[in-house]
Amino acid sequence: MAAYLYRCPERHETTAEAPMGEAPESVHCACGARAARTFTAPMVRSGPRAAHRMRDVAAESAENPRIAHRA
Ligand SMILES: [Zn+2]
Repeated sequence: MAAYLYRCPERHETTAEAPMGEAPESVHCACGARAARTFTAPMVRSGPRAAHRMRDVAAESAENPRIAHRA
């Protein structure tokens, strides 16, 4: 299994696990919108992307508390 990142039009991020190469193109976000799979490769651990991920996670935690409570 690998973790894939999805992002809905509201820019919420959702992580879904699926076998390598079998991740669906989209999933339902907790807000009800369709979240599209991002280009991010599964299991990226280091490199320039790491800084991007840190920033995305910070933004997500800032705007997603209501989603977390609904889950
Ligand atoms: Zn959403």
